[in-house]
Amino acid sequence: MGSNRYIPLEHMTLAGDLYQVKQKIHLSIMDQHDQLEAQLEKERIQSIHILQIDFFSEILNLVSSYALKMVLQEYHSANSATSEDPLPPCTCSIRQTHGLPCSHEIFVMLSKKKSYS
Ligand SMILES: [Zn+2]
Repeated sequence: MGSNRYIPLEHMTLAGDLYQVKQKIHLSIMDQHDQLEAQLEKERIQSIHILQIDFFSEILNLVSSYALKMVLQEYHSANSATSEDPLPPCTCSIRQTHGLPCSHEIFVMLSKKKSYS
C-alpha cells in the first residue's frame, strides 16, 4: 500500500483546475461585492439628498432612511393636494403596518404649520 500523502498525477491536474476555477469564482464574487458596495454608497448619498427637506429637518438623523423614504412618498402626496385636487378618502395602511403617518395625517400637519406661519 502506497502512502496517501501522494496524489496521483491525473488528480493533481484536476485539483489544479479546480483551484483555478475556485480562484476565478472568488475574484468574480469579490468584483460583484465591490460593485454592490459602490452602488450602495451611491444610493446612500442619493437618499440622503432626497430626504433633505424642511419637513424632516428635526428627525433626519433620528429615523432610518428606509422609514423616511416611506414617509417621503406620503409627504409628496399631502404636499401636492389642494382644495381643487384633494387627497382621496383615507384607506392608507402605513399607520397600521408601520406606525408611520399617512398622507392625510401629514396634510393636517402641513395645514397647521401653514396656519401658524
Ligand atoms: Zn390616510
